[in-house]
Amino acid sequence: MIIVFDSKYVQFGSFIAVKMKINKAYKFRIYPNKIQCEILEKHFGCARFIYNYFLRQRIDFYENNQSSEKKSLTYHDNALAATQLKNNPDYEWLKEVNSQSLQMSLKYLDAAYRNFFNRKAKFPSFKKKHNRQSFCVPQHFSLKGNVLNIPKCPGIRIVLHRQIVGVMRSVTISKTPSGKYFASLLCELDIPEPVFAGNQIGLHYGIKSFITDSSGISVESPKHLGKSEKRLKRLQRRLSCKQKESKSRRKAGKRFARLHEKIANRRRDFLNKTSKQLVSDNQAIYIENLAVSDMAKNHLIAKSILDSGWNMFVNMLKYKGKWYGCRIIEIDRYFPSSKRCHVCGYINESLTFKDRSWQCPECNTNNDRELNAAINILTFGRTGTVQTILPSLDGTRTQVENVLDSLKPETPSESSIQDECPRS
Ligand SMILES: [Zn+2]
Repeated sequence: MIIVFDSKYVQFGSFIAVKMKINKAYKFRIYPNKIQCEILEKHFGCARFIYNYFLRQRIDFYENNQSSEKKSLTYHDNALAATQLKNNPDYEWLKEVNSQSLQMSLKYLDAAYRNFFNRKAKFPSFKKKHNRQSFCVPQHFSLKGNVLNIPKCPGIRIVLHRQIVGVMRSVTISKTPSGKYFASLLCELDIPEPVFAGNQIGLHYGIKSFITDSSGISVESPKHLGKSEKRLKRLQRRLSCKQKESKSRRKAGKRFARLHEKIANRRRDFLNKTSKQLVSDNQAIYIENLAVSDMAKNHLIAKSILDSGWNMFVNMLKYKGKWYGCRIIEIDRYFPSSKRCHVCGYINESLTFKDRSWQCPECNTNNDRELNAAINILTFGRTGTVQTILPSLDGTRTQVENVLDSLKPETPSESSIQDECPRS
């Protein structure tokens, strides 16, 4: 058989598949020497300055031009003004760094504004010196062996702990509050268009176990923060009693930042592995569309919710799902997944947060809280409807109501209801 290659296909191992372009970032630790550190610091500082300077300009412009036709500044306005700024003798030091990195700062500012207007993010905030620092190099960088070359700062030692696949598009240099430097290489690569195969599962997000799926498998919560919390508290106490601007305070701050970083790394690693496993094994995953910020307001569960990084996990599921062939479908957050008996549809209104399991008064099923919820999520996700039995107010008999009809824009077909609940 003759296979005609064209740009639509990609060879992947021994087989050929329709290809798809994705962006993937590879992050490596870098070890700049003393002189290189100084140059990088200059870049961080200038990138931060440009971002903050033009954020201030944009805010002022908006406030002063409420009644005029042009209310806000664009990227091009900013870029033009930045060039003029560099020619101002007071800001001549901006010329010492790679000009493209400064342009990227403006692009990030523009993107932050667009995200805000598209309701994807909060209003952009000013960048602070003691937070994570970064700047982007969009062009003229190279990687030769264990050496990374960027404009104005060639020859940085880099530790490549994994193979890079794809064409490098940009590199972002960053520094953590604990003082470590990293280079994140953004690559564009072709991967075979995913094949959707495997199971469909419902995922319930719990507090006791991190997730439980509808087949009964649960992944325990790693509780990273909990374990290190005592140590973190001790370090924070030590930090707060140190004198401001002192050397010992800086030292204690670094120690605190290092522990924080460690916890975050462990969490990200756990989430990466768990999400990869799930999207590889399944072709569709139904999850609850949780409002984490709302749930975190409940102080009893807030810490464990924020600790387990649910938002980050859902994001990972979504992008990895695209790569490995798994659809992630969110269902309405007001669906009573825990309260509904998955066998008969009875709604247990008296279920409290502490109940780990409950017996259904209608069909006598012993429902494990998390597994029951996961099965309900799968059922609701697949069919878009479930039959529900609500307990009547006087407690004598139950009434059958399809309460969830109102959640869906279209009325479900008769057959799908009957498929789901033969009792009706
Ligand atoms: Zn039941």
